Amino acid sequence: MSTEHGNYIDGDWIESESGETFAVSNPANKNEILGTYQQSTSDDAKAAIEAAVAAQDEWASTPAPERGAVLKRTADALEARKDELTKTLTTEEGKTLSEAGGEVQRAIDIFTYYAEKTRDLGGTMKAASAGNKQLYTKLEPLGTVSLITPWNYPIAIPAWKLAPALATGNTVVFKPASAAPGVSLKLVECLEQAGLPSGVVNYVTGSGSDVGAPLSEHGEIDAVSFTGSTAIGTIVAQTATEDLKRVQCEMGGKNPTVVMPSADLTDAVDIVGSGAFGVTGQACTACSRAIVHEEVYDEFVAEIVDYAESLTVGDGTDDVDMGPHVTESELDETLEYVNVGREDGATLETGGNRLTGDEYDDGYFVEPTVFSDVNADMRIAQEEIFGPVLAVLSVSDFEEAVAVANGVEFGLSASIVTDDLSEGHRFIEGVEAGVAKVNEKTTGLELHVPFGGYKQSSTNTYREQGDAGLDFFTSIKTAYLN
Ligand code: NAD
Repeated sequence: MSTEHGNYIDGDWIESESGETFAVSNPANKNEILGTYQQSTSDDAKAAIEAAVAAQDEWASTPAPERGAVLKRTADALEARKDELTKTLTTEEGKTLSEAGGEVQRAIDIFTYYAEKTRDLGGTMKAASAGNKQLYTKLEPLGTVSLITPWNYPIAIPAWKLAPALATGNTVVFKPASAAPGVSLKLVECLEQAGLPSGVVNYVTGSGSDVGAPLSEHGEIDAVSFTGSTAIGTIVAQTATEDLKRVQCEMGGKNPTVVMPSADLTDAVDIVGSGAFGVTGQACTACSRAIVHEEVYDEFVAEIVDYAESLTVGDGTDDVDMGPHVTESELDETLEYVNVGREDGATLETGGNRLTGDEYDDGYFVEPTVFSDVNADMRIAQEEIFGPVLAVLSVSDFEEAVAVANGVEFGLSASIVTDDLSEGHRFIEGVEAGVAKVNEKTTGLELHVPFGGYKQSSTNTYREQGDAGLDFFTSIKTAYLN
């Protein structure tokens, strides 16, 4: 028997007015239904917006440290349920227990971080032109904000939007992705348990067109923070800016790792391999292109193939290195790109198949996949694949490596593996990416620094995480007293 879950609107767990639900199943075993969720309508979204608007004045006038105390209690509640949340995340999204545990810990750390930030939310005194005048700035909440999130980090991404939005006094309507709504529902339960007043956070499940669209259109929404694909983010950004809402869209990536001859090859293979195949390649920052100097190309290809073939694939609750794709359609898309790579003339070095057999038949498992002989203009070197598929390209020097790294429409995360520090600095200078790394994998970042992309990876106006996360959710007011 699976549990039916409600929407959370104005402090109550309620059914959609549609009377309909959708089911979420385990990607490692599609026959296991994990729960059913409300198939909400635009009227449900509007009810959630009204509740958030009604709660806004009181939440904004709650002293910031009191808001911080709610966030801290939320972190404590998440911590107390960490094992349960980790299991929920693995069984609905597919990543391994170790990856899921890391993600839940990130959500705990984010709430703790922004709880502490509420003691020092900014604003500055400025010297005025005369002694009888006073000049200062203060930060004010935007009002009511929509948060729209993807399935691939279904607790960390909601956390890094919710915590700064709440810390700064905004109220929220939050729509998770339908493939993995369960772990974020538990996050909302933790907020409720922490004593968050009714209406401050409202959680509504359902389709992008029925629920997501009203959240970017509605006149009483002051800002939209979206993470997801570039295709949908572009629509959200266009809709939201029609009436000049503040909008932030963090979107897709085609992240490169450059490997130079001075690099320790074992390190390089670890950096590329963990970036490419970690979380089944289902990360916006996943390494999908290894851009390798020709001097070490053949050796690198041989070693990265060994790396891919050494990975164990299976149900993320077992002791495996890589879990399944989240849904059958995501799996099919990856397999389609394998065909595209073959047809375009790349060499399939390893992988490329759906896994079959007793332990695999009911899940969405695919082999870690490596293509070599990839040209920079091939589709598998240009388009986001969102699965464990690595394209390896050969270049003859540093300048060509940077040009190839930059020769895509995305610009989220990029890294170089080199033993030459000045080369590392030149890479940071030259690469078109919001996050530029040296001797680090493209995935992962510390939580107190800005995160976001260039080009089609982001609306590139505001960043997330750290102080940048607070900037998005606040307006600056300048006060001038005589
Ligand atoms: P998606 O774009 O399909 O969906 C994202 C969210 O938007 C979901 O909640 C969806 O229901 C909603 N949505 C769909 N149509 C909508 C509409 N018309 N109006 C408003 N909302 C709508 O993305 P996904 O498949 O859930 O996630 C994978 C994508 O997310 C990848 O492209 C990945 O690169 C990207 N991503 C980016 C980052 C980042 O920080 N840059 C992080 C994680 C994932």
